[in-house]
Amino acid sequence: MTDIIINLTRSLCGACGLCIDVCPFKNLELVEGEVAYTGETCISCGHCAAACPNGAIQDPVIDSSEGEYETFIADKQWLPHGQYDTPGLVRLMASRRSCRNFIERTMDRALLDDLVKIGITAPSGTNCQLWTFTVIPTRKAVISFAGHIASFFSKS
Ligand code: SF4
Ligand code: SF4
Repeated sequence: MTDIIINLTRSLCGACGLCIDVCPFKNLELVEGEVAYTGETCISCGHCAAACPNGAIQDPVIDSSEGEYETFIADKQWLPHGQYDTPGLVRLMASRRSCRNFIERTMDRALLDDLVKIGITAPSGTNCQLWTFTVIPTRKAVISFAGHIASFFSKS
């Protein structure tokens, strides 16, 4: 066996089998009534930890500090496996607007940091999170940057 990334607390395992069902690499199985990692490839997707109703699995690659925000208090409790707040999601998405009434004001750094943290909760292929955010905090810098982008594409 190689690449074991998750932490199992077997004493918390209720042998429900949910983690076994959701693992895309079939890394987990019940051995003598307890869950065990018997696979070879863990991509640290976190599905097993998310599905476990007893908190018996932790994925140490998932940085819990990413759920700490400075400008608001987040509910960090994951929804139980199979329970989703679909009406809430639809309401949020339907309420979204592209507001273009910009004002000249430097944004608070904490708010910008929180926005990036929210952004990285989006899905990424195999949870690789290979992304880079460039925060341009002033309107003047945005306009300057837009000029460089336009210049680049007008030459190509
Ligand atoms: S983190 Fe993902 S790949 Fe690794 S054991 Fe859990 S479900 Fe399987
Ligand atoms: S989901 Fe949790 S309780 Fe269920 S088998 Fe896996 S580790 Fe045990």
